[in-house]
Amino acid sequence: MPETPRFRTESVKTVFRQSILKACALFFVAAFLPALAHATKSVNVRIWPAPEYTRVALENKTPLKANHFLLKNPERLVVDVEGLEINDALRQFPSHIQSDDPHIKQVRVGQNRPRVVRLVFELKAPIKPQIFSLLPVGEYRHRLLLDLHPVIPHDPIAALLEKGAPKKDALASPQTGNPVAQTQNNPQVIRMAPKSGGQTVSKLHTNSMITIVLDPGHGGEDPGAIGRRGSREKDIVLSIARRLKAKIEQDPNLKMRVLMTRTGDYFVPLGERVKKAEAAKADLFISIHADAFFEKKARGASVFALSEKGASSAAAAALAKRENDADLIGGTNLKGLDANVRKVLLNLSTDVQIKDSMKLGKEVLGEIGDINALHRGRVEQAGFAVLKAPDIPSILIETAFISNPEEEAKLLSGDYQEQVADAILKGIRKYFARNPPLTRKDMT
Ligand SMILES: [Zn+2]
Repeated sequence: MPETPRFRTESVKTVFRQSILKACALFFVAAFLPALAHATKSVNVRIWPAPEYTRVALENKTPLKANHFLLKNPERLVVDVEGLEINDALRQFPSHIQSDDPHIKQVRVGQNRPRVVRLVFELKAPIKPQIFSLLPVGEYRHRLLLDLHPVIPHDPIAALLEKGAPKKDALASPQTGNPVAQTQNNPQVIRMAPKSGGQTVSKLHTNSMITIVLDPGHGGEDPGAIGRRGSREKDIVLSIARRLKAKIEQDPNLKMRVLMTRTGDYFVPLGERVKKAEAAKADLFISIHADAFFEKKARGASVFALSEKGASSAAAAALAKRENDADLIGGTNLKGLDANVRKVLLNLSTDVQIKDSMKLGKEVLGEIGDINALHRGRVEQAGFAVLKAPDIPSILIETAFISNPEEEAKLLSGDYQEQVADAILKGIRKYFARNPPLTRKDMT
């Protein structure tokens, strides 16, 4: 997946470099300043292709309304956008569809009738579109988002669970030859099949693979914080997560597998991230971010766990609010939100989850303290939406301050990214050395 949106004006980078940022909220201003300047006159279009779904974002000074319908043979999505006259951005849009877009073959754009622009998407496979509009937020103007979700969903969790799953042959019942059932709620716990002679041996065997969910923050429409040099939090944290994933997977002694909540530059709503971790029966959830503050001297790494009873400091509360705003900036279709995802966001975590998260956080903070200054010497707590999986120890790491020029340079360097990945992994290993997964599960 590309690391940059495939459709954006050339001047973006230059303005990024020039921007001097005064407050965290303003980072979003800088990210799309040229696009917005453009949008004062006309609509601006961005596309975020990804295996999970491809998103097209139209941004305009006035609200955009759309009607849509699907056509078969060949599969097409037709979207009529009201309140628009065709302009160069729309005319050029078809040329920005890449041949490797997972869902779109090509697009045609035309003025269907006065003030109505028609977009016809030719599709590679049937899709379930989610089309919704968002009110202005941050420095974004009105947005109309066209999310093209495949009817047959991309399923990274199934692929993950296959990794390290015991071979079917070894588990086949001698009588039936059927693979034994996996318990519904925990694919790691395999119930043995009845033995011949009708006697049941219900012995619990654990597949020794530990599942780590890595959550690179932000993505797609949500760039996260922007450094003074123009580097974007979403790119840096994805790079760190990829390095950590590679380290875990390349070490044959580690019986761990990794699921990434996003694998490219596209937005995943916070509740979806938690739902993925729950679906994968994750043993740990680690959200990776880079901090920002209006005062450029602010520096150091920090680690956070969830709090049910209010934040451990005003700064932690402010940070949680900013991170939770990702759903607004990134663009989430609240009406289309899965009932399970809504539940996830309402669920309260157990005390046990928070205690385990604190233990994990301390180990990781200790290791990160060896490679960078710490912003605070203890694990802080606040109501981060992404840390709400009830049974999964979950932490959020702010790897350094992207708003501090020195730390921005560090965050951009492969060396520091490697060090951060090593430190997180060391923390994970120490945590498991002291809290073996089975003990922890037995206790919950
Ligand atoms: Zn962040």
